[in-house]
Amino acid sequence: MARQSSPVWKDYRKALIAEAGDACIACKRTKKLEVHHLIYRGPGVRGITEEPGDCAVLCLRCHKVLHNKFGYHMLTEDLKNKQELWIEHRRIRFEKRATPEFQAKRARNQAKRRAKL
Ligand SMILES: [Zn+2]
Ligand SMILES: [Zn+2]
Repeated sequence: MARQSSPVWKDYRKALIAEAGDACIACKRTKKLEVHHLIYRGPGVRGITEEPGDCAVLCLRCHKVLHNKFGYHMLTEDLKNKQELWIEHRRIRFEKRATPEFQAKRARNQAKRRAKL
């Protein structure tokens, strides 16, 4: 059976998403969530090869951006750490964007730009 359709994986995936609070860990979006493998460790005994922390819950968009940056061969611990750092930076960026200060600043800039037109 293909791994993606194995019931064990489906349950595991569901549990991971629930654990992440049903939201992308980077941008907190709650739609189109996917489970990304920070690292692949090869076939396991019970159909689950992942160790805690091997996967990250991301939305479709963040997931795409991550793969554009890191490619599709995530086999080293070193690369896993780099991805984790990248996700953390992205999370902080989105968190900043959600603050009232940032929103106000953006509104001011937009008003300025409109005034110039
Ligand atoms: Zn996201
Ligand atoms: Zn992925």
